[in-house]
Amino acid sequence: MKVPQKKGFLLPNGLISKPVKFEGKTIFVQNTCGFDAISQILHFGALDDPVYCSTIQSSTNETLQLVNAFMKKGPTKEIFFRRFLILRKFYPIVQRTEATTSLNPYFLNAENNIGTIWSEIFDSVPSLFKTYECNNPTCNFEPQAIPFLSVNHRTIGRKGFGALEEAVQFHSRISNIKCRKEECKGIATEINMTNFHIFIELDIRPRIQMTAGMQCTLGDFPIVLHLEKKYRLAGVIGYTPDHFVAYCRRITGRWLLCNNLKTTIESCNDKTVIIPHGIIYILETE
Ligand SMILES: [Zn+2]
Repeated sequence: MKVPQKKGFLLPNGLISKPVKFEGKTIFVQNTCGFDAISQILHFGALDDPVYCSTIQSSTNETLQLVNAFMKKGPTKEIFFRRFLILRKFYPIVQRTEATTSLNPYFLNAENNIGTIWSEIFDSVPSLFKTYECNNPTCNFEPQAIPFLSVNHRTIGRKGFGALEEAVQFHSRISNIKCRKEECKGIATEINMTNFHIFIELDIRPRIQMTAGMQCTLGDFPIVLHLEKKYRLAGVIGYTPDHFVAYCRRITGRWLLCNNLKTTIESCNDKTVIIPHGIIYILETE
């Protein structure tokens, strides 16, 4: 069955979009590329998947709500303002000038590593929930939200990004372990439940002396990941010095490069060489 594809939008970096006005201040929101690259991939993920789309529609998470509005409206002033409202919770607003007057503009710099950005904005919708079933009746372990998954760098170094599923070392149940709750002497089963989207941090340095992350091509990544449930590759966040770009994989297998310092979305393919810093998978529902 051939379904016409929705085209989607490019979310421009705060560096090239207009400043926002807030409480009488003019604020330049800078280096939004990490936040934007994540939002960009989820936006195409939702355009291609009605179930993920309705998941983000019904979510109370502010970034997912922004992605939902962005899908419908594109890059509007309102979207830039909402992006600012989210980022100001994590990044300070500073007036960068020698002679401070009320007319000087303010700056918000949202630069950070991509795993940290994901953890900040998706605190309420993490990649994984971890709980313990403990044989100690007085033990009450609160479920833990794990924002993103990490990988074994040596496995990737040896076998390449095609071994991502193995390198994640995911186990849905681990039996007969000591309970992780402090001061509990019980024996527990650890239960890991993956969520509707998964972020895996990928700045891979198999050897300590490496000064940049390991390179690969877009075609190297598994398009399906089995972590208890089945996940579809939605996109990869690539790093070029001081800048993140989003490589979005449409459900047809077509790759798009969203560089938010440019004005248009470009095509790329399985042979495109990148330095990945993060990868996003979306729960497949059939
Ligand atoms: Zn316990």
